[in-house]
Amino acid sequence: MSSSEYGPSDLGAYVEPRAYGEPRIEGQASAGAGPMNTLERVAQLVGTCTDCPLGRGRTNAVPGEGNPQAEVMFIGEGPGYQEDRQGRPFVGPAGKLLEGLLASIGSHRDDVFIANMVKCRPPENRDPSPAEMAACTKYLDRQIELVNPKLIVTLGRIAFGRYFPGEGITKARGRLREKDGRKIFPVLHPAAVLRREELRPTMIEDFRAISEILEGGIEDSGMEPVVTTPEAPQPAQLSFVAAPGPAAIMVAQAEASTVNVEEAPRPEQLTLF
Ligand code: SF4
Ligand code: URA
Repeated sequence: MSSSEYGPSDLGAYVEPRAYGEPRIEGQASAGAGPMNTLERVAQLVGTCTDCPLGRGRTNAVPGEGNPQAEVMFIGEGPGYQEDRQGRPFVGPAGKLLEGLLASIGSHRDDVFIANMVKCRPPENRDPSPAEMAACTKYLDRQIELVNPKLIVTLGRIAFGRYFPGEGITKARGRLREKDGRKIFPVLHPAAVLRREELRPTMIEDFRAISEILEGGIEDSGMEPVVTTPEAPQPAQLSFVAAPGPAAIMVAQAEASTVNVEEAPRPEQLTLF
């Protein structure tokens, strides 16, 4: 493995402070490269990136997508089969569950921003390696800076490890944390919930807590997860859009109440997913 395979990409004149203490990459611009000033530019660079071996195996890179002003950013692990085929995050079975969970709190994938630790699919869906994550983190770092979400929700062990390496997700999930000035809320990975049905109520509870956090209901770190009342759900509590107005809430309500049951269960159908 030559070092150039993990070398800096064409980050151009991007000189913003870096979040994780890596050396700043400067003066590496190649033809057509430019600073990562916009999410579109980040996506463009991801689309041609060859900074780690995962780039060789991809069908499509999956930069991430969503509301550029989202209050919540979800961070997954990396693209799976469907994501690699479509170039979009969370469009397979785990994505369907994520959409259902969002609907259960009156939100929608277009309201939030969804990204991954690595932007290209690891072969056989294996865990991304530390070197691959290190090579790819510049894109996620910049996406976080650009979206500047109020809350980062890490999905599963790998994304949680970005902020709290070495800790177990089972213990950590459902408790609001803070790291480097950002609010981090770890939850399980939807794929884990699909594999282990008994985790579903926990996941539903944690999503309920996300909406509570955004409403200012849980301020401090280390708090217990919110006690949920599945018998009396409150649909469309918030839309996850910055300063949602009545119109945004109505849109969220309409979406939550008209979606296909299997894809996005309504709150009263929580026990179905
Ligand atoms: Fe580049 Fe990230 Fe894809 Fe590796 S996974 S090739 S670093 S975009
Ligand atoms: N799992 C992930 O972690 N990310 C995706 O985008 C899809 C499935």
